[in-house]
Amino acid sequence: MARALVLEEKQKLALREIDLPDKLGPMDVRIAIATVGICGSDVHYLVHGRIGPFVLKKPMVLGHEASGVVTEIGSDVTNLEVGDRVCMEPGIPNLSSKASKLGVYNVDPEVRFWATPPDHGCLTPTVIHPAAYTYRLPKNVSLAEGAMVEPFAVGMQAVARAKIKPGDMALVTGAGPIGIMCALAALAGGCAKVFITDLVQEKLDIASQYENVEPILIPSTNPTQVLREATEGWGADVAFECAGAAASVQSVLEAVAPSGCVVLVGMHVAPVPVDLALALSKEIRMETVFRYANMYDRAIALIGSGKVNLKPLICATYSFEDSIAAFNRAVEARPTDVKIQIKVGET
Ligand code: NAD
Ligand code: ZN
Repeated sequence: MARALVLEEKQKLALREIDLPDKLGPMDVRIAIATVGICGSDVHYLVHGRIGPFVLKKPMVLGHEASGVVTEIGSDVTNLEVGDRVCMEPGIPNLSSKASKLGVYNVDPEVRFWATPPDHGCLTPTVIHPAAYTYRLPKNVSLAEGAMVEPFAVGMQAVARAKIKPGDMALVTGAGPIGIMCALAALAGGCAKVFITDLVQEKLDIASQYENVEPILIPSTNPTQVLREATEGWGADVAFECAGAAASVQSVLEAVAPSGCVVLVGMHVAPVPVDLALALSKEIRMETVFRYANMYDRAIALIGSGKVNLKPLICATYSFEDSIAAFNRAVEARPTDVKIQIKVGET
């Protein structure tokens, strides 16, 4: 039995003892969890009890954005040692699947992902995890930053899909955590400037504290017009939809340049009408993103190099015993909050 933050059913959290897997396989490591970030998806399961086809049917431990310290290694593990500070990919694919063999393990239909029903998450003092999906952090990257690698990897995946070229001008719609991660990954990937939209001024203030991130408050300002003015009438080379709103899909299609690229990152709760005539007339390349594959090493390298600083996005840190208060605050969705974290261990 282990203590954990358990989502018992929709809108009912408990910090209690629960039976969790405890068998260390030869290729696994045991990790003392240090920090866990609260993600929009954790909050969505708490409030709605489901995300699309994933429905909470029995109590589930929450949390998937985690860092920790290795406390035990399986007999065949060679890449990690006891005492290593690490962060973990929350999705574990079937390594024999066709998706894994193709290198696209994020879209393996058999992937098991922390805190996605029916699989438990990591808001508990220790977890067992495959060593292959556990990544050592450089000395200059804190465990709090390590817990930010997961959402940053989504931005990295989006930018990789965009195939950015040096000097590209980008638009991001939605200045939530994922939009900001995309903006930072786009700058690190070579964009000259990233324009970012939101309906909420506080969100834009947080995003535009970064150099070369330019805020666009909608609807009073028109993103297409701003991008045209910045590019001598051409438009954005690449536009990332990170709001998950239908209106925002239309605005990336409008603001992107002829032959530009639109990357769809936002998850939409209902089918969205898409102006395909507009997309075709500009021969827009359209890409979609589902989590990430092979991005953790690169994300950690960028954070370690100092090119990407995620620390300003951590807005509050709660103790494990105060996990329910942390989630209550996340449900409040204060406009000035970006990433709320829970410090599970003392490390
Ligand atoms: P969030 O809700 O915190 O942020 C969304 C932001 O968009 C908010 O600040 C909101 O004010 C703003 N917004 C709403 N409508 C807008 C509009 N029309 N134009 C511009 N901004 C608008 O969410 P988040 O955690 O940042 O995630 C963003 C989206 O990415 C969500 O849809 C989420 O489900 C999705 N997501 C996708 C993946 C993936 O693998 N594809 C992974 C994680 C999250
Ligand atoms: Zn997440």
